[in-house]
Amino acid sequence: MPRIKGTHTAMKSGMLAADAIVDALAAGRANDELTSYQSGYENSWIYSELRMVRNILPLVEKYGNFWGTMLSGINMWLENFGVRMPFTMKHHADHNALRRKDHVHKIDYPKPDGVISFDRLSSVFLSNTNHAEDQPVHLQVKDSELQLSSELNIFAGPSTRYCPAGVYEWIEEEGKEPQYQINSQNCVHCKTCDIKDPNQNINWVVPEGGGGPNYPNM
Ligand code: SF4
Repeated sequence: MPRIKGTHTAMKSGMLAADAIVDALAAGRANDELTSYQSGYENSWIYSELRMVRNILPLVEKYGNFWGTMLSGINMWLENFGVRMPFTMKHHADHNALRRKDHVHKIDYPKPDGVISFDRLSSVFLSNTNHAEDQPVHLQVKDSELQLSSELNIFAGPSTRYCPAGVYEWIEEEGKEPQYQINSQNCVHCKTCDIKDPNQNINWVVPEGGGGPNYPNM
């Protein structure tokens, strides 16, 4: 159950951070770095589990599905018995995996049926996402010309599809240059844009405290 596992990992990370904050406050250290967070993380099950699987994707990418999976299994089996692999294989950055629009076919996604699939803005509504309107922008496009010439013209605007909250839109009107619209109010803080933008041209910065999604039933 990867989704539940991921949720446990996020919760444990949050608990480690909270522990580190409490330790620092109890010791009268309100303004320095939370160094105990790193050591707490390295002593937790998150670190040992992530360490065990760190070579899986690079192995599959390098040796293919069959041999990559076999080698990954051996790697994990050995690590499980305490044999630490003395290396961490390199893996490509996520944004380098995007393909140009002239190398792919457009996918016609089915429309949400309102029963088992839902449109993005309805789901954002359920997340109670909100940001103060006058706070500094937390989604920064470093070079707007590059966004047009590359993100839209070469890669067909992937931000309009990978963002789960529909924050990014290319507004195209006849006779006018396409405009990049950022509906930052809807951002659910997943940070995908910071990782996935093909030119690393979007910088996600931490918004003001209190903003963002708020799931009241979780
Ligand atoms: S952080 Fe996530 S939700 Fe927010 S703009 Fe980026 S991709 Fe969209």
